[in-house]
Amino acid sequence: MNDKALAATINAAIDEMLKLGPAASTLGLWRDTLEQILDQAAPPAPEGAAAVKHYCQRYFNQVVQARGLTVRSIAHSDGAAARRSPEHSTAIIGPSTFERLEPKIRSTFAACVKEAQEQAEPFRRSELQKALAAFEQWAKSIPLGGTKDRAYREAARDVRQALKAFPQWDKAYCGHKAYNFPTAVSRLFSEGSGGASPQGTQYAGPIAAIWRWGAWTHETEHERFNGRAFVVRGNWAITKGFINQSVAMYTDQMPHPGDDNCRCHYQYLYSLRDLPPELLSREGKEALAKAKAVTDAIRKGEPIPEQKAGIENTSAAQRLFSAFKKLI
Ligand SMILES: [Zn+2]
Repeated sequence: MNDKALAATINAAIDEMLKLGPAASTLGLWRDTLEQILDQAAPPAPEGAAAVKHYCQRYFNQVVQARGLTVRSIAHSDGAAARRSPEHSTAIIGPSTFERLEPKIRSTFAACVKEAQEQAEPFRRSELQKALAAFEQWAKSIPLGGTKDRAYREAARDVRQALKAFPQWDKAYCGHKAYNFPTAVSRLFSEGSGGASPQGTQYAGPIAAIWRWGAWTHETEHERFNGRAFVVRGNWAITKGFINQSVAMYTDQMPHPGDDNCRCHYQYLYSLRDLPPELLSREGKEALAKAKAVTDAIRKGEPIPEQKAGIENTSAAQRLFSAFKKLI
């Protein structure tokens, strides 16, 4: 069915509702007719999934070619983290990080493509039912016997729009799903940049992340996570026993902020002092207090607590200070 015939059928349905009102038999009949022609006019589910796969594949190729994230994608996906820790932004582009994460990037790509394939049909069905429900709801609001009231005619514009838009469901689906993979890659680089490396770079990675809910959207499912901190598994602070694991929830137990076009994101935390106190173990609190005592002493020019010899001169104290800054 071409666009013209589709528009004509939609107009006929709307005109008849306005003329006769929603007598049960005609409303049901028109609903079925619209369902059938819209279903025929729209691309089938695999086409929508293929569009998402195409987009993800392109992004995957970019990441593989760059052997890391491009600067643009860092700025786009996690500008907050890059700003917080400027040295971190170079760490997450690095090829050695890429090599370590490559298997995970590949399996994430496969998982994103699979999900796009599995969810295409339910998404298509739900979009079609939404458009038909808009028609039905509007039609049922018309008085029996029809109406000449302009308000109903004006309200019909949105209904017509919703029905006519359905055959482009695949574009909506691509917008809904395509960013899941880039978002997942960015998350892998952000969370996987530290923790596991034995060469002293283990302090670079985030230890936790605060969920920031995209409050300006209509999505409310994630609102309950807003402001809560989730621990990144395998990070250095866990290794050192600084995290209270009995209360910790981990990022890998959570849904993914940014998935399905939601506007949430993680704000990554790199220091013990940024963690909510309840996430710190007793050892973590002690380490934090010790570090604070050292930095306070240096600031005030007092002797550094609990240090024996070799740090009397300023440059050694400064070295210790920056070592502590890295640690905590
Ligand atoms: Zn969200």
